This record gives sequence, structure tokens and C-alpha cells, in this order.
Amino acid sequence: MANKNACPVCGQIDQAQNVPAILIQGTSSGVYAGPTSGLTMSGGKLGTSFGTAFVAGTSRTELARVLTPRAKPKEEKIQSAPAILLVIVGSILITVGSCSMGNSNGPGGVLLALGFILAVIGLGIGYTEQSSKKDEYQKRNAEALAAWEKEMEIYNRLYYCFRDNICYDPETGEFRPLMQTWQLMQK
Ligand SMILES: [Zn+2]
Repeated sequence: MANKNACPVCGQIDQAQNVPAILIQGTSSGVYAGPTSGLTMSGGKLGTSFGTAFVAGTSRTELARVLTPRAKPKEEKIQSAPAILLVIVGSILITVGSCSMGNSNGPGGVLLALGFILAVIGLGIGYTEQSSKKDEYQKRNAEALAAWEKEMEIYNRLYYCFRDNICYDPETGEFRPLMQTWQLMQK
């Protein structure tokens, strides 16, 4: 009889909705499309805990905003500031040097040589950092992605109960007030 996705607080499913579905409705239309019966009854309670009753389209959008999941982590790139700086300075010296090569008494040749040396050192440092930190970065990026995927796996099965203003994980029976929904995904 009991629905396996039922709310752990009220034991019912009639006011509960899958969180990703709330997000899709809230962001696409902004028009309230969730369960309506009982909302007026629980409106006062929702009003106190959240500042609004979830009846108007804007509140629906606000709910979706609160329930928006963390974005997929961006891949961290290895960047060596000294290497970049050396290559830039080297390139400037090469440019200045080659422009003043016409003057045989000028510092063109020296600048050119110095520019090449700096640029090569810079590239060398950059290459060494790339190869030495590659594994570390790959590992870190993979871990960040795996953590996010795990969060999303839990997120996708979460439900929100309009009656109790809580989010819950039907699989574990854990629940949190709306604003602490993210704790459900920290495992
Ligand atoms: Zn409930």
C-alpha cells in the first residue's frame, strides 16, 4: 500500500514531487504545475519557512532556483606563471632585438639571443610542470567529476514534499529542510 517514494514525514506521496521535475517545470514555464490540493492549507507554513507560499509562478521559479544542482566541475588546467612570464619576456626581447638588428652597433643581437634563451627556459619549465603535475591534475579532476556524478545520482532520486517543506531521499529515508537539501548529497 505504502508508496516507496512516499514522504518520510507525512507518509504520503500526494504533495511530493521528484526534485529534477520541479526544476524543469520551474525553469521552463514559471507557472505553478505541482500538486494543488492542500497547498492553501500548508501555505502558511511554507510562508513562514520560506518567505512565500508556493502558489504563484514566481515562487515556483524560486523553489526551482533553490533546488538547482551544483554545476559540473570545470577541468583544472596546469598553468605555470613563471613559464608564461619567461616566454612573454623572451618574445618581447626577440621582437625588439630583431627590429634593431639593422644597427650593427646596437644591442639587437644580444637581445635576440637573450630572448631566445628566456623563451626556451620558459618552455622548458612549462613542459616539466605539465609532465610532472599531469597525473596529479588528472587524479584531482577525475575525483572532482566522480564526486559531482555521485551527487547528481542522489539528486535525481530526491523528492520534495510541499506539505512538510522538506527534501528526502526515498532510498535511504533521510530528509532535510528545503534549505539544507544539499546535505543529503554529501556522502
Ligand atoms: Zn510530507
